[in-house]
Amino acid sequence: MNKKTIEDIDLRGKRVLMRVDYNVPLDENGNITDDARIRETLPTIAYIQSQEATLILMAHFGRPKGQVVESMRLAPVAQRLAEFVDGNVTTVSDSVGPEVEAAVKDLRSGDVLLLENLRFHAEEEANDADFARQLAGYGDVYVNDAFGAAHRAHASTEGVARIMHERGAPCVAGLLMARELDFLGQLLTAPARPFVAILGGVKVSDKIGVIENLLPKVDTLLIGGAMSYAFAEAKGYEVGESYFKAEDAPVAARLLSLAQSGGYNMRVPVDILVADRDAEDAQTTVVPFDAIPADKMGMDIGPGTIADYSTIIENAKTVLWNGPMGRFEVTPFANGTRSIAQAVGRATTNGALTVIGGGDSAAAVKQMGLDSQMSHVSTGGGASLEFLEGQELPGVAILDDK
Ligand code: ADP
Ligand code: MG
Repeated sequence: MNKKTIEDIDLRGKRVLMRVDYNVPLDENGNITDDARIRETLPTIAYIQSQEATLILMAHFGRPKGQVVESMRLAPVAQRLAEFVDGNVTTVSDSVGPEVEAAVKDLRSGDVLLLENLRFHAEEEANDADFARQLAGYGDVYVNDAFGAAHRAHASTEGVARIMHERGAPCVAGLLMARELDFLGQLLTAPARPFVAILGGVKVSDKIGVIENLLPKVDTLLIGGAMSYAFAEAKGYEVGESYFKAEDAPVAARLLSLAQSGGYNMRVPVDILVADRDAEDAQTTVVPFDAIPADKMGMDIGPGTIADYSTIIENAKTVLWNGPMGRFEVTPFANGTRSIAQAVGRATTNGALTVIGGGDSAAAVKQMGLDSQMSHVSTGGGASLEFLEGQELPGVAILDDK
C-alpha cells in the first residue's frame, strides 16, 4: 500500500476529520441488524483516541436525496457506536453550520462527534466545493476509513481532502481502509500461485470489467451463479426459466472468445441444480449444464461443479471470490455457495490468501458462519469491484502517498 495511514503522521492533539461508512442495514423498526461496519472502524477510532486527538466523524445513511428525512438520521448509529467506544460520543442535528462549529469547539481529547447524515445536503453527492470547504474547516487532519464509499467522488470522500491538501493538511487512510487496500492490492500485484478467482452473482455486465482485468492475471477463473446462464446462452444451450438478461449473452460470448484467444483458463459449471420454482418447497433436480429443461430454472451449481471447483480452490495459494454460486437465500439453493465457502475456508487453512468481495457474497459467508475462515471479507461491494477492475478509486487517489 503506497498511501500514508494514520500511523504515518502526527495526530497528537489534532482535530481529526474522518469519513466512515456507517450505512448499516436496519429492520422495519429502525433497529440495526448488522453493525459490522461500525465495529470495523473501532481500531481506527481507538488509535486516534490514544493520540489524544479529537475526532469528528462524517457518514451517510440511505438515500435521502438532499432532504432531511427523519428516519435516516444517524442517531441509532451514534447510540451503537457509543456502546463500543470509550469516551464521549455526541451528535449534532446537521453536518455543517453553527451548531456543528460550536460542538467542534467543545470537543476534548478523546471525544467523538458524529455529524448528521451528509446526504441531507445534495451538495455531498454533487461534490460541492463550498460544502466541502465547510466540512474541511472542522479538521486539522483528514482521514478516510470508508472503503465502501471510496469509489465515489463526493464532498466527504474527495472534495474535503482536496481542500485540506491545498491547506497543507495531511490526508491519510484509516486502518480499515489500509487493510482493504492491502488485501485487495495483494490480489492484483504478485499474488501467490495458483491464483483462483470465483465469479458469481447476478449480472455478467456488472462484473465484465473485473473478469477482463482478472483473466490474464489468474490461473483459473471459475464462473457460477446466475451469470452462468449468460455463458450457457452464448454457447447456444437452453437456459429455460433461469435468471437471464438478454444483454448479458453477447458479453459472455466476448469473454469466452477472449479466454480462448488468450489461452486463459475460464471454467463454467458442468452441472446445474434446477427447480420448478423459486421457493423453499421447490422440487429440484440436477442436470448437465448444456441440458437445462425449458420449463425449469437454474438455481445453483450442481454437485459435479462443486467437486471440480472445490479441488481447484483447495489447491490455490490465492483466492478471490465475488458473487454467490446460487440463490443461497432460499434453503434448497444454498448448497453451492456454502460448499464453495467451505472450500475457500480450507484453502485458508492450507495457507492461501483468501478474499471475499461483494456485498451479497460477504452476507452469505457471514450468514453461514464462515467469515472467520477467510483472510479478508471486504466491506466494500461496489468499491471492491471497481478496485478489482484496476481503477483508481477517487477517495483513495486523493490521499497522501507514502
Ligand atoms: P455480490 O453482491 O456478492 O457482488 P451479486 O449482487 O452480483 O453479488 O449477486 C447476488 C445475488 O445473486 C444473490 O441475491 C443471489 O440470490 C443471486 N443469485 C445467484 N445465483 C442465482 C441464480 N442461479 N438464480 C437467481 N439468483 C441468483
Ligand atoms: Mg450485490
